[in-house]
Amino acid sequence: MSVIDLRSDTVTQPTAGMLDVMASAATGDDVYGEDPTVNRLEAELAKRLGFAAALFVPTGTMSNLLGLMAHCERGDEYIVGQQAHTYKYEGGGAAVLGSIQPQPLEVQSDGSLDLAHAAAAIKPDDFHFARTRLLALENTMQGKVLPLEYLARARSFTREHGLALHLDGARLYNAAVKLGVDAREITQHFDSVSVCLSKGLGAPIGSVLCGSEALIGKARRLRKMVGGGMRQAGLLAAAGLYALDNNVQRLADDHANAQFLADGLQKAGYEVEPVQTNMVYVQMGDKAEAIKTFAAERGIKLSAAGRLRMVTHMDVSGAQIEQVIAAFVEFSRN
Ligand SMILES: *Cc1c(COP(=O)(O)O)cnc(C)c1O
Repeated sequence: MSVIDLRSDTVTQPTAGMLDVMASAATGDDVYGEDPTVNRLEAELAKRLGFAAALFVPTGTMSNLLGLMAHCERGDEYIVGQQAHTYKYEGGGAAVLGSIQPQPLEVQSDGSLDLAHAAAAIKPDDFHFARTRLLALENTMQGKVLPLEYLARARSFTREHGLALHLDGARLYNAAVKLGVDAREITQHFDSVSVCLSKGLGAPIGSVLCGSEALIGKARRLRKMVGGGMRQAGLLAAAGLYALDNNVQRLADDHANAQFLADGLQKAGYEVEPVQTNMVYVQMGDKAEAIKTFAAERGIKLSAAGRLRMVTHMDVSGAQIEQVIAAFVEFSRN
């Protein structure tokens, strides 16, 4: 029985083509700045996203952490979504390791943060308060694409208030493909952007932080400090380059599969949220554990959650989505 894993787009296996380029990658010691493949990946992504510099790191969590720490000093503050990865899912790293205070705000239904609320959260210049330094956005946010017009407003807002603007672009390319625009249309608005190579792009490991020379210089020092300085990391960077060259446009297939899944479940009577990219959210209420077990018996891996998230990716085919729909239909009849 082949397994259909819808828990996340992080579960993809490297393809034969990707493994080939990894095996033949030119490598060197990246802590000395001597890995040609890492250097190529950093230069390539910086160029593609319109930044002066970039830094290859093992995870998106580290990439965001270094971004936050490069922008903020101890006692500074960043405004961030209550449900954002950089607040909720990174072990409190910015506070623990950076002594940076989060100011969380509720995320709006379209995935954005209300800029009036953000303005109200900015602290006055007064020694009672942390110094508000940064606004952190996420795109896609739980599968939702932030409108380009909103990003332009967020840019003017942060300029007006003297804040930096960071993007957790773990799924930046899902957003760009969905909008049908060059990723730079999104990244042009930000001072720093973190991109995951290990999500829908299909690389086994790796994220990249992009920013100015000064910001990335600072992040490079911080990367060493937190133990992220890797040696012959060109093996991994080669997978990232391969992913950028081969796996960006195909994200549209994942989006189509997610829509197909959502339509099938809706027809079967499930309460499904509108789909924009590669995530399908279904209300399972108190049936979360039951559907997880039921699906597992049919080779389908799901998370157990009342608001169940299913994520499509390159290792799930359209035919497999039909199997998933069939399993949900059968479950609803029991
Ligand atoms: C996955 C993810 C990250 C980084 O996760 P790692 O597992 O540390 O690579 C950051 N932000 C978002 C929105 C993510 O989905």
